Amino acid sequence: VDKKERFTRMTNQRLLLLEHLQESKKHLTIDQLYSAVKPQLPKLSKATVYRNINLLEEEGLVQSLDIGKKEKLYEVASEPHHHFVCDNCNRIIEVNLADIWQIKERIERKYGVKVDSYQLIAKGKCDFCQRH
Ligand SMILES: [Zn+2]
Ligand SMILES: [Zn+2]
Repeated sequence: VDKKERFTRMTNQRLLLLEHLQESKKHLTIDQLYSAVKPQLPKLSKATVYRNINLLEEEGLVQSLDIGKKEKLYEVASEPHHHFVCDNCNRIIEVNLADIWQIKERIERKYGVKVDSYQLIAKGKCDFCQRH
């Protein structure tokens, strides 16, 4: 495999991963991404998925989410938002309330710092799990 071909293949893998994340509109682990994309790329290894996702994250196209579980979750980088994670069924809800962003200003005012980003992860039971 010459250099150019290898580069093209890398790019295709990255594009496919990105497309899958975009279409699924979900927060996925490396394992889930690997299983989803594997049928289209039989030569794909998990290590390659990992490497490509890290590159996509460095490029700012993908963002990771650490919800305190074994594996990080990945999603397409979009408007900053926060998350609710159900401890029971692992459902993830995107949270976006104007009030949450006021915390940024309050932190900056109180501590004299400049906040570039932060993520709130609320945990508990989703509406479904509360009823069942
Ligand atoms: Zn739930
Ligand atoms: Zn999200």
